[in-house]
Amino acid sequence: MLQVETLTKWFGGLAALDGVTFHVMPGEILSIIGPNGAGKSTLFKLITGFLVPSAGRVRFQGEDITGLPPHRVAQRGIVRTFQETTVFRELTTLENVVVGHHVRMRATGWEVFLNSSRARRHEAAIYDSALELLEYFGLAPVRDEPARNLPHGHLRALEMAVAVAASPRVLLLDEPFTGMNPQETDHALDLVRGIRARGVTVLLVTHDMRAMRRISDRVVVLNFGRKIAEGSPDEVQNDPAVVEAYLGREEHDLRA
Ligand code: ADP
Ligand code: MG
Repeated sequence: MLQVETLTKWFGGLAALDGVTFHVMPGEILSIIGPNGAGKSTLFKLITGFLVPSAGRVRFQGEDITGLPPHRVAQRGIVRTFQETTVFRELTTLENVVVGHHVRMRATGWEVFLNSSRARRHEAAIYDSALELLEYFGLAPVRDEPARNLPHGHLRALEMAVAVAASPRVLLLDEPFTGMNPQETDHALDLVRGIRARGVTVLLVTHDMRAMRRISDRVVVLNFGRKIAEGSPDEVQNDPAVVEAYLGREEHDLRA
């Protein structure tokens, strides 16, 4: 589905990502883990076109997409959420999800249909789809609330809903469980499984080792920009290089 080949990103003298190679299979949930500053968010930005790599390639379904701008990457169906919250705070929950639908439409020229009856039918379909997504993500009760008023858990769910609204084929989630308690995380894990069940391939960055163990088909571990391990959750957790990388970092305790 997706191939990352010797991907490298230099910031001045720092290699934030250094020759990283791995692939993603259709329909799998692949987690990217690693200590703070390991290059996880940089990797996501390189895949989605928000950063241009210094070296290496990204291939999607066999096609080279390296260096394409973000809207072109999104048009092909690769969509990410941001570690920083990126919903429009002054828009309502519903409006945010409606905007999310346009992420792919814009790239495919939906403006052409504006003011036509086809456009109005299209808008109605978007509205219906947005309501369905709000229902699925448990956001229906807060659909008319400005996003700035939403509690943390709802905000995270809204980020996912906005991303899913763009009909991704590959969804990249950067730290979606941050600030959630175990119960909220379990609920979010169910949502992610549901997204995958709709045929979406999922790449996930998380610090939450319990969540990682529960949801990942496979795991890629980064440290200082390099891939240090790859395998099943069990395999990577018992890998000496991974244990070493996490040593003395209580906040990332592998057994937590
Ligand atoms: P992670 O998401 O794994 O915590 P990042 O990908 O955000 O790590 O960052 C990897 C490294 O690259 C860090 O040392 C970070 O400070 C650096 N970095 C990230 N973005 C930039 C940037 N825009 N300019 C300079 N350095 C950056
Ligand atoms: Mg990050």
